[in-house]
Amino acid sequence: MSYTQIETAPRAEIRALQNERLRETVEHAYENVEHYRTALDAAGISPAEIETVDDLSALPLTTKADFREEYPDGLFAVDDDRIRRVHASSGTTGNPKIVAYTRSDLEVWSEVVARSLAAAGVEPGQTVQNGYGYGLFTGGLGLHYGIEELGATVIPVGGGQTQRQVELLRDLESDVLSCTPSYSLYLAETAAEMGIDVADLPVSTVLFGAEPCTEPMREEIESRLGVTGIDIYGLSEIIGPGVSNECHEAQDGLHIWEDHFYPEVIDPETGEPLPAGEEGELVLTSLSKEALPVLRYRTGDLTTLTYDECECGRTMVRMDNVTGRADDLLTVRGVNLYPSQIEAVVLEFDAVAPYYRIDLYREDALDRMELTIEREPGFDGDLEALRDRVLTRLSNVLSFTPDELDIVGPGEIERTQVGKVKRVYDHR
Ligand SMILES: [Zn+2]
Repeated sequence: MSYTQIETAPRAEIRALQNERLRETVEHAYENVEHYRTALDAAGISPAEIETVDDLSALPLTTKADFREEYPDGLFAVDDDRIRRVHASSGTTGNPKIVAYTRSDLEVWSEVVARSLAAAGVEPGQTVQNGYGYGLFTGGLGLHYGIEELGATVIPVGGGQTQRQVELLRDLESDVLSCTPSYSLYLAETAAEMGIDVADLPVSTVLFGAEPCTEPMREEIESRLGVTGIDIYGLSEIIGPGVSNECHEAQDGLHIWEDHFYPEVIDPETGEPLPAGEEGELVLTSLSKEALPVLRYRTGDLTTLTYDECECGRTMVRMDNVTGRADDLLTVRGVNLYPSQIEAVVLEFDAVAPYYRIDLYREDALDRMELTIEREPGFDGDLEALRDRVLTRLSNVLSFTPDELDIVGPGEIERTQVGKVKRVYDHR
């Protein structure tokens, strides 16, 4: 069941709404944000020329660097007294990206998260344990208000305190857990140490986001926790979690709530728009934001859009599960590859646990990659033979093998207890 009528509306109705909102958004951004006014003027475009979403590609792209340069509030489009909340996304380099919301923006956010939960199969009256961090990060509070909006009960446990989380999951009999994929695995491990099998608990859905997750990783999580793993996607610059969500009926791509966020896919090298069905970098334009309208934002996430009908009845476009960020691309000895490609190969092996790390070094001007994987607790086979099989498979699938492959014992790879998992350590 969809949460709002527009999710299943005819495409023409969605398109008409997008066109109308796009015109308002471009006008609003141009009138109230100097950055956009300067950018459009420099490109020789007047807001009146943007009549439909087909005209969008004429507008300049907006980047992370623009957010940093306009720190803290250069991109805000309303007076301070209309702003009800501010969040910030942690920057590993430079200024954080500060984002702001009016009352109306907060209502839209709650609604799109409620839609996302409904798409995930969450029903009013159910209980959701929210394991995303509260505070400046948009994950915790974003999910929180959407859960309430849907009419479900929220347990605002936040990140960390894993033993406590396990006890609450057991004692309050939550139906749904929301957290990162890597944290759900850590929670299951902690539970096992406490003598509790998460698969025996009532929790039946894990809503995961904030980290890329390959299909083999999802399958691991689903079988270990005895749950359905549903992907939620979002980013602070656009609104936070709730930009798109997988439907539980198909589990085949994430429906973008495109009456609020207009998606394009571009070639990350040239910036040229790509046709539906081709993989490239996701670019999003906000269609209803007041405090922080965003025109053609480069997300850095690689995906594909499909407008094919979905078995759930929703007509909104689907994006592929994001398994690679343009930023994550590793170049090792001239070969380009994503950590997710390595993850997908190593997790094909039943003997390999869903934990790994990649270390990159430069020695004598040459790149060197060390891959560390962990064996399953039950594995008592020949480690050398396993190593050979993994290396052969990597070579066959990726035409690449690491310089060193270590297989360590259960629990030896450091777990992520709070925040996003770190798997690549580039020492170069
Ligand atoms: Zn669907």
